Amino acid sequence: MTIFIDRHPYRYEMERVSQMFFPGDKIQVKEGVPDQQEYIYTGMNQNKIQVAVCISGSLFTREEEISPQDEKNEIERKMAVAVYKLLSPITKIKPKWGILTGIRPVKLLAARRMAGQKPQEIEKHFKETCLVSGEKFALAQRTACLEEKILSRNTPDSFSLYVSIPFCPTRCAYCSFVSHAIEKTQILIPEYVELLCRELEYTGKIARKLGLSLRTIYFGGGTPTALSAEQLKRICGAIRENFSFENLWEYTIEAGRPDTITREKLLAMKEAGVGRISINPQTLNDRVLEIIGRRHTTAQTLDAFYLARQCGFDNINMDLIAGLPGDTLESFQNTIDGVLSLLPENITVHTLTVKRSASLSYNQELVERTGEVEKMVDYSQSKIMNSGYEPYYLYRQKGTIGNLENVGYCRPGKEGVYNVYIMDETHSIFAVGAGAVTKLREPAGEDIQRIANYKFPYEYLGQFDEMLARKDKILEFYDRKGKHLASGKE
Ligand code: SF4
Repeated sequence: MTIFIDRHPYRYEMERVSQMFFPGDKIQVKEGVPDQQEYIYTGMNQNKIQVAVCISGSLFTREEEISPQDEKNEIERKMAVAVYKLLSPITKIKPKWGILTGIRPVKLLAARRMAGQKPQEIEKHFKETCLVSGEKFALAQRTACLEEKILSRNTPDSFSLYVSIPFCPTRCAYCSFVSHAIEKTQILIPEYVELLCRELEYTGKIARKLGLSLRTIYFGGGTPTALSAEQLKRICGAIRENFSFENLWEYTIEAGRPDTITREKLLAMKEAGVGRISINPQTLNDRVLEIIGRRHTTAQTLDAFYLARQCGFDNINMDLIAGLPGDTLESFQNTIDGVLSLLPENITVHTLTVKRSASLSYNQELVERTGEVEKMVDYSQSKIMNSGYEPYYLYRQKGTIGNLENVGYCRPGKEGVYNVYIMDETHSIFAVGAGAVTKLREPAGEDIQRIANYKFPYEYLGQFDEMLARKDKILEFYDRKGKHLASGKE
């Protein structure tokens, strides 16, 4: 499908809204008036928005008035609503988040609360002005309550540490991360671990110099437990030596793939002070696991979970995905029920996202499964929330089936706070390792600066010194933006 943009600046948003109605299709964007048989047209003059869709020989049109008081945001919204209202009945697709295409709908809600809007006004805005369904609004509202509490704990001198381990046992079909199957990259790992420890030392010096308080540590990737127990000990030791744990709230390692979890690694993590781990089944259906290339079984997931409990882990997250190839509503429901029976402290339910960098691609079958995936997500939400869990973070991604969401749920007091801080961009995240991106947040303002490390392990190893030098930009940033930090060290 091609969308024509005629005399207005809302190109990006109109493309995003139109894309929701043509999943899997590449939307072409052209300026001007249509010169072909099938198209979406969006145009405006001084007092009107005009939208038209020509599809299978039929033409549908819609017009909306613009008032002289309408600001740019409002005109953009009106145009998006016009596109939505025209395309929804034609395609029989009704996105539950309405015209909201952004990744953080909860942030929009929180911003309105902060601005002092009444609950009824916020509800009206979401449901009537942005066409968000009642159930998604209720979910966003419930998530915002817990998220607000977590965000209120932040202090200007807080920061988090992210450690990237971009290696996995095999590559999952839906994966779009920079992660490398360990069989092919084994040879790089010893040197990677050594340089990672050097980067941790350098980063720790910077944090000390700035007088910042480390609040959360998160090992992701990749699958950090793809490393050996010795390698994990070495990295955790480097963190302990170079950072103060005095003000630490949370220490998470994504154990991720159950087939990488051993007693030795769990004990090494426990000894290092790790309090929270993730054991990610994605599904409890062995046939689906095989289709997506995970190369582990449900029995291994259960064994890893019980082993972690034996080793003293009382804060375990389990990631699941709705919409995996080969999965059915019934099998997904069994997965939800099975995971709930384990009583993990956190459950994170993602909706399958198809990205260009993954080997899984959008196909007609996936498009046709949207309704079923919506039912999976609905089931997960009602079942998990009725089992004593609360949603505490929520985000959306481009390319997700049905434009649905990913939600993290927790038992009371067991929120994974790093997840909220990274999503909200609450405070700076110092990131180390290949593919990691340091995100600096102005302590008392909105400015964000990113410093990217080299993406691939071989680049990280080959150009390490140059990459390390980039870390000095952290000092420069705080020098410019962090004058008011409590420590007064700047
Ligand atoms: S475990 Fe995660 S990071 Fe590793 S290949 Fe699978 S999806 Fe990608």
